[in-house]
Amino acid sequence: MEKAIWNGKLYTATEIAKSSELEKSIRIASAQTELLCPDDECPSPILRYCHGEKKGAYFAHRNNCACDYDRYDKEIRPVIRKVKNMLYESFKARGFDVQPEVKCIPHHYTHLLLTLSNEKKVAIELGTHSTDACKLEHLSKRYAEAGIDVRWIVVSNSHSAIKEEHTYHIKRRSLNETKHRDVLIIDEAGTKIMQYTIDPNQYEFRNELHSSPNYPEIYSENGSLSELTFEEDELTLDGFYKRYREWLVKKRKAFDKKCEKLKEEERGAQTFQTHFIYSCPIWPQVGMKILHTQYGESVITKLEYRSNRTIITLVTSNGDVVFRVWETMLERNEIKDILKK
Ligand SMILES: [Zn+2]
Repeated sequence: MEKAIWNGKLYTATEIAKSSELEKSIRIASAQTELLCPDDECPSPILRYCHGEKKGAYFAHRNNCACDYDRYDKEIRPVIRKVKNMLYESFKARGFDVQPEVKCIPHHYTHLLLTLSNEKKVAIELGTHSTDACKLEHLSKRYAEAGIDVRWIVVSNSHSAIKEEHTYHIKRRSLNETKHRDVLIIDEAGTKIMQYTIDPNQYEFRNELHSSPNYPEIYSENGSLSELTFEEDELTLDGFYKRYREWLVKKRKAFDKKCEKLKEEERGAQTFQTHFIYSCPIWPQVGMKILHTQYGESVITKLEYRSNRTIITLVTSNGDVVFRVWETMLERNEIKDILKK
């Protein structure tokens, strides 16, 4: 356990270990059973201070007891403890009002509790892929009852881009239920942070949804611990929301441009079709079977109009796929016969 009370004052084991003078006093206090568990509901609150060579400094109950703080301390995974401490140090060094291991909802210890400049309280909880849905649901309700915002950070080394429907519960919940539909992931070394969010907009043209490799559905950024801050009362990488909104504007512009291009192609195709119907006796269609001078019996499997030309995809009798311009084929008399319209 990291914290203990001595003479009404709260001490942390890590801080004590840094000063040999203080450590000596605490050891004496420990021997005289003056160190107390900070949990108000602890049934057996006398603690001892330990600082061995292998293990770092910590407090432990003298007697086994059903203490919430003790239970929290035994259950916390080493990686979560480490990342929690790193986050705490980072926030503290930057002047945030942050407290580690706070009991602000019943029978539970919050990893970090921050009080923002507007007095708003935000609990930071660290979870992993194995953090189950019941726990998340239970804690969310308790925090809501206490009027405290809660923000989950996922501790994971998997930083690859994800799809919302393929991700595990803790990430999925954040994506769907946070104000900005975003997720924060921190690696197990506690150094790198990834933030991502899902663009909820649909990009539709002529009843068809469009996607682009340049602007995927998920927007993401990488950052470091020191870039973690609060904006709009939300825990975020510094400037993330602003950059995300700028990205959305660019994405919309790119999509509008694409729509214009598609409309232009449609207009071109229409003009050409009108022209073609009057000037050309044979109108190509998907499924049409032709006898080609070079390829033999071939089937048209696709039509595309580009710059007033009709590009056709032909599957030949050998199974080869060839691309040809229909008008050129007509000009050069390459079509010997129409076998099936
Ligand atoms: Zn206790």
